[in-house]
Amino acid sequence: MALELRHMKRIFALIPFAAGILAGVTPAGAAGPIKLMLLDGQSGGPYHAWQLTTPVLRKELEETGLFQVDVVTAPPSGADFSSFQPAFDKYRAVVWNLDSPEWPASLMTSFEQYVNNGGGVVIVHAADNAFPQWKAFNAMIGIGGWRNRDEKSGPLWYFRDGKLVSDPSPGRAGSHGNRLPFQLTMQDAQHPITKGLPKQWMHAGDELYAAMRGPGQNMQVLATAHSDPANRGTGREEPILMVLSYGKGRIFHTIMGHDIPALACVGFIVTLQRGAEWAATGTVTQKIPAGFPTANTVSYRVDIAAMQPAAGAR
Ligand code: ZN
Repeated sequence: MALELRHMKRIFALIPFAAGILAGVTPAGAAGPIKLMLLDGQSGGPYHAWQLTTPVLRKELEETGLFQVDVVTAPPSGADFSSFQPAFDKYRAVVWNLDSPEWPASLMTSFEQYVNNGGGVVIVHAADNAFPQWKAFNAMIGIGGWRNRDEKSGPLWYFRDGKLVSDPSPGRAGSHGNRLPFQLTMQDAQHPITKGLPKQWMHAGDELYAAMRGPGQNMQVLATAHSDPANRGTGREEPILMVLSYGKGRIFHTIMGHDIPALACVGFIVTLQRGAEWAATGTVTQKIPAGFPTANTVSYRVDIAAMQPAAGAR
């Protein structure tokens, strides 16, 4: 904690926004709500408390008025999956708040067919730690980390001189420093998800994933952030927001969202909401709300931050 506080000497103004001001008021339209599956059930450790973050993600998606969200909880790897046969086809997109090391083959095939046929995918934070050996899943996420990934999982991917480059250097995949605010740079301001966002904006304190590896094919990086060596970073411009395709399916991948304070960032919320709409439909109809973070000012939602249980109240 002392280390974190020392780094916090870089002072960023914090602008809290009350509930309601930013809640999107977007009519669902005559076609009815877009159905999303929010998939959870396992994580790499207690530091990713999916039981706490799923209700937050659900609220953030449903408050747009665009989506109807069903939470589907998978058994942990190695448990009995015989009765777990989620009806992916009922949903326009599957939002992943799940980090499992492995799944039964039939379930992997079922999800691959869903995406191949045009199902959308949203990858939030540690969902890109999942399934190091599942080839199709790694093709969908483009880059991943941890769970013994290394150069055999694919090259490093980062930005250099304004361009996405791959780097085959050997080594492990996945690292991050302390949870500090960091500044995103939009590398594509014309994509439906990022159109209208400031060129640069501050994300609330979160893990800045770095040294991620994967096939990186059919992948477009929408936003990057500088991974600061002073906070155990790589010194490189690391991918933060990505879009990919797999068959007919669209994938939106955000590396942000470690915990509820990170999920309370207005920038996280807006990019999640827009990314989910794009993954599900290919377009974005949502407006950028007032109070979006600026190049040097973090902005967070007090009502979301308040969803964090008080210490000891679990
Ligand atoms: Zn994390």
